[in-house]
Amino acid sequence: RIVAPQAITPQEESIERALRPKALQEYVGQQRVREQLEIFISAARNRNESLDHVLLFGPPGLGKTTLAHIVAYEMGVNLRQTSGPVLERPGDLAALLTNLERNDVLFIDEIHRLSPVVEEILYPALEDFQIDILIGEGPAARSVKLDLQPFTLVGATTRAGMLTNPLRDRFGIVSRLEFYSPEELTRIVTRSANLLQAPITPEGAAEIAKRARGTPRIANRLLRRVRDYAQVKSNGTIDNDVAARALVMLEVDPQGLDLMDRKLLEAIVHKFDGGPVGVDSLAAAIGEARDTIEDVIEPYLIQHGYLQRTNRGRMATQTTWRHLGLTPPAGRSG
Ligand code: ADP
Repeated sequence: RIVAPQAITPQEESIERALRPKALQEYVGQQRVREQLEIFISAARNRNESLDHVLLFGPPGLGKTTLAHIVAYEMGVNLRQTSGPVLERPGDLAALLTNLERNDVLFIDEIHRLSPVVEEILYPALEDFQIDILIGEGPAARSVKLDLQPFTLVGATTRAGMLTNPLRDRFGIVSRLEFYSPEELTRIVTRSANLLQAPITPEGAAEIAKRARGTPRIANRLLRRVRDYAQVKSNGTIDNDVAARALVMLEVDPQGLDLMDRKLLEAIVHKFDGGPVGVDSLAAAIGEARDTIEDVIEPYLIQHGYLQRTNRGRMATQTTWRHLGLTPPAGRSG
């Protein structure tokens, strides 16, 4: 799926690393989050203290990992990276925590997927920079307190609502990342094209930006595919004509919706008569996981009025019908 916001191959991950802005200055958009972090980082640095723990939430591909790296860079410290599902046992987390140096950043992606026993270890670590570990087994087992260096946890999650309350309460800074505007994405595409040494016109960059579902990861991915197309089918320069033709080939429509988006909207309209339909029935109808629908496909569609979430289920809107080239039934809301 060309507009799937998750990184897929190791090769793509290495390209992403190359395109990742290093300093806060280079980070495009998310102005509110950037301003907040700038103040908090500069204050923590002046006091030579660790930054408060930071929780970043928002759909995949909006720049959470990038921000975690930027926080470490701006603080002048190391970053250690892991993710919720990887930390299976308390010992896995304890090993990471005890190896942190003063004021380091520990980045835990998908933090809502930490197991409860691992999460337990995290509470005193976050609050008092201490952990309790159990040494030995059975009746001889005893609990030992270990002091940690002060550190900053940066947690990332697609949905803040999936975090337990005690965990969420331990973050001093909670930031929600928003979808990017076409103008912001145009700046990102232009910057990436320069880094990739791909000639691009402002109109070409805007065309790609418009179709990137508000998501930098998708913008960068489309850019790379369009660059290939421009090299083979044209003179190598990405202008708006080449970009538009390449995107048609990639089945990304002018609004940036891809096959999977259209499949979901078509299912609601054709199989469920416009809804309301429960997310599980929808998942079964289009053969996608419920989580993928909720975290990846739906947020953008809802924000742009293609889908309505009601307590009886998902509903098509007038925009949905029109987008599919159909006439909305009379008397429908949206
Ligand atoms: P997430 O962790 O939210 O899934 P990432 O931080 O991995 O997203 O970002 C995906 C890609 O998008 C990165 O390669 C990065 O280059 C690019 N990117 C994300 N946010 C920005 C931004 N604000 N400015 C420039 N590039 C960005």
